[in-house]
This record gives sequence, structure tokens and C-alpha cells, in this order.
Amino acid sequence: MIDLDLTEEQRLLEQSVREWGARAVAPKIRELDREHRFDRNILPQMAEMGLLGCSVPPEYGGAGMDYISLGIVSEELEYVDTSLRVIISVHAGLNCLSLLAWGTEDQKQRYLVPQAQGKKIATYGLTEPAAGSDVRGIQTVALKKGDRYFVTGEKMWISLADVADNFLVFAWTDLDKKRQRDTSGISAFIIERGFKGFSSATLKEKWGILAGNTGSFKMEDVEVPAENLVGKEGEGFKIAMFALDQGRYTVAAGATGLIRACRDASAAYALERKTFGQRIAEHQLVKEMIAGMESDYQASRLLWLRAGFLKNAGRRNTRETGLAKWFSTVASERCAGDAVQIHGANGYSDEYPVGRFYRNCKGAVIYEGTREIHKLMQADYVLGFRQDKATRCELPAIK
Ligand SMILES: Cc1cc2nc3c(=O)[nH]c(=O)nc-3n(C[C@H](O)[C@H](O)[C@H](O)COP(=O)(O)OP(=O)(O)OC[C@H]3O[C@@H](n4cnc5c(N)ncnc54)[C@H](O)[C@@H]3O)c2cc1C
Repeated sequence: MIDLDLTEEQRLLEQSVREWGARAVAPKIRELDREHRFDRNILPQMAEMGLLGCSVPPEYGGAGMDYISLGIVSEELEYVDTSLRVIISVHAGLNCLSLLAWGTEDQKQRYLVPQAQGKKIATYGLTEPAAGSDVRGIQTVALKKGDRYFVTGEKMWISLADVADNFLVFAWTDLDKKRQRDTSGISAFIIERGFKGFSSATLKEKWGILAGNTGSFKMEDVEVPAENLVGKEGEGFKIAMFALDQGRYTVAAGATGLIRACRDASAAYALERKTFGQRIAEHQLVKEMIAGMESDYQASRLLWLRAGFLKNAGRRNTRETGLAKWFSTVASERCAGDAVQIHGANGYSDEYPVGRFYRNCKGAVIYEGTREIHKLMQADYVLGFRQDKATRCELPAIK
């Protein structure tokens, strides 16, 4: 049975992240966004609160929170700014939870523990200049010689590319399968920034999530010890998709936070601004937009909570997580557009936060499965073209 009430622990977490966001980040976020500046000082504070290892068990350096708590953290952080939630998505979601499920004990000790403690920052490198939705199109290769792999390729549009210490990287290890576009030829590796032949750069032309870091990295014959292969050779695609189940969950909860931020800012403005002798909150067409934000908020929240419930129970949730991600990100775009509309010309200036919400929300309609890819997936589930097969590894259930 799904219990929609938060536990006392979850409520306290929600309150403390909300208070921290309002106190430590909200006052400076407009300046960071204007200056396109990622504030590294935020990371130790997030580590201190246990957010960077949120759902990693304490024996691996984490805070041992359940997956609904991971959703709460994501929602609260994105209420302040999308850039904060992105840190959780790539570091705690895509990377740490993948290592928890698929990593060897040695990999957990060497990488997961310092990452969950926030001593090292990690991200996820799948996308390349010529391949995003079409994962089979990646060109990065990892060729084995003795007990090492030599990795060559370029990853693009990577969150925290210029910030992270460790990278979960996907590459072809079987060149015949690469030619045949058979995903069982893709493998996953942990690559450290310090490995010879690795270099990264920040993307300067981005127009959203400006307080976040996004970039690219190149690997030129990077020598990777065989111990850094995650899972078995050929399991990389499965790991990449498994990781997306975790990342998409945080994106869904984050978009829910952004919708709430749009709703709250719009309601406050509508109660202040007057036209035709009355507050704009009195106009039915403005009310309609605010009502839409409320229904989008409540529906999005229920969808990520359902996915979180399934994760806590140790049940497969690819379908439910995908639906939550798709619905809430598309809804956030709608709500951010309406929030700007309610603010009139003021919404078109960055004196008010809604312009930032409008720019920030679009990314999530593109990353971790575009709107179109999610539509196709959901239709395929309904039509019976797609069923989720059991994978070798799943997240541990949390009682
Ligand atoms: C801010 C930001 C952060 C990101 N962070 C990361 C990260 O940390 N790690 C990472 O690996 N990647 C990251 N990405 C990349 C992101 O995951 C990709 O951009 C995404 O998967 C889409 O790929 P693409 O941009 O190559 O678009 P394409 O795949 O080229 O798609 C272009 C358009 O065609 C549509 N399309 C494609 N195929 C189909 C189809 N079969 N049917 C219908 N329509 C289709 C798409 O929906 C889209 O509208 C990030 C992107 C952004 C914007």
C-alpha cells in the first residue's frame, strides 16, 4: 500500500533542505546565474547535510536515506535552482546509485565511499557530439591490452564535466558489435580526472541552468585499469539504462519543485499586481493559470512518490519513473511559461525569478530521455511492444 504521508524523518529532511536553500543559496542565486558561475562552496555544505550520498547506505559512506528522501531532496533543491538538483541527479543518482548496484566491493571502497561522503564529485558520461538519444551511435572505444583498457573518445553536454573528479563512462569494447550497433558491445568504466590523456572543458554557450556547470571531456588513449570496468564487459548499456532510472527519478522530483516555485512566485505576484482596478489574482484567466500550476504540481508529486515507493520496495520502476519524468518536465515547461505570462513584462526581466525558471526547465525536457523518447516508451508499454526484463542488479530495497 502506498502511504502518502511523509514520515517524521522525511518531514524533517524536507524542512532542513528547504531552510538551507532559502538561507544559503536563494539570496545569491540570481548573481550566480547572471555571472554563469558554479559555486563550489555549495558542495561541502551539501556533503555536510548528507545530500551527496543521500540514498547510499552508511557502510558505503552515505546517509542511508530512503529513495523518497532522495525525491524530497531533489524537489526542495530545484525549488531554489535547477543547478542544485542537477548535482544530485548526476552525482547521487546516475553515478553513486549505479556503483552501489553494479560496482565491485573494491570499486565501492575506492570510489563510492569518498563520493557518498562528498569528498569526491562524480558524474555520468554517455552523450557524445554525434549521439544523444541514439546511444548506439556513440563512438568512444575502449580497447583491451593486457590488464588495461585504452579509452579514446569525446563526451559532450556532461553536467559537472569541469567539476567532477570521477566519471562513469560508456564505450564500445567490441568493435564488431559497434559496427552491427549491437548494444551488448558497450561497457562501463570509472575514469578519474587525473588519468593521463583526460581533459575537460566548460560549455560557454549554454543559456539555461547558468549557475550549473556543463561541459565536455576528451579521452585520448586514457589508460584505465581492468578493475575499473563496472559490471561485466558488454553490460554497459544495461548500466547506462539502470542509471537513468535513478537520474530520471531525481529529475522528475526536481521538475515538481520547479512547478511549485512557479506556482508560489505567480500567486505572490498576482496578489500584488493590479490592472483594471483590481488585483490580477481576481481575473479568471490568471486564476486558470494558477489552477493549472496547482494541478500540475499535485500530479507530478504523486507520480514521483509512486516511483519512490516502488524503489523503496525494491521493485522495478522504469515505466513509472519514465512517466513521472516525462509528465513533470513537460508540465514544468507549461508552468514556467505561464509564470512568465502572469508576471507580464516583469517576467521578461531577471529582476524576477520566473525568467530563470523558464530557461532552466527546458533542459529537463531534453536530457535523460527527450520528451519524444519518453512518449515512445510510454506508448510502447501500453501497446505491449516493451516489457522490462529483470536485470542482474537492482537497488537494494529500503524498508
Ligand atoms: C543541460 C544538459 C545537461 C546534460 N547532462 C548530461 C550528462 O550529465 N550526461 C550525459 O551523458 N548527457 C547529458 N546531457 C545530454 C542529453 O542527455 C542529450 O542531449 C539527450 O539525450 C538528447 O540527445 P541529443 O541532444 O543528441 O538530441 P538528439 O538525440 O539528436 O535528438 C534531437 C531531436 O530529435 C528527437 N528524436 C530523436 N530520436 C527520435 C525518435 N526516434 N523519434 C522521435 N523523435 C526523436 C529528439 O526528441 C529531439 O527532439 C545533457 C543535456 C543538457 C541539455
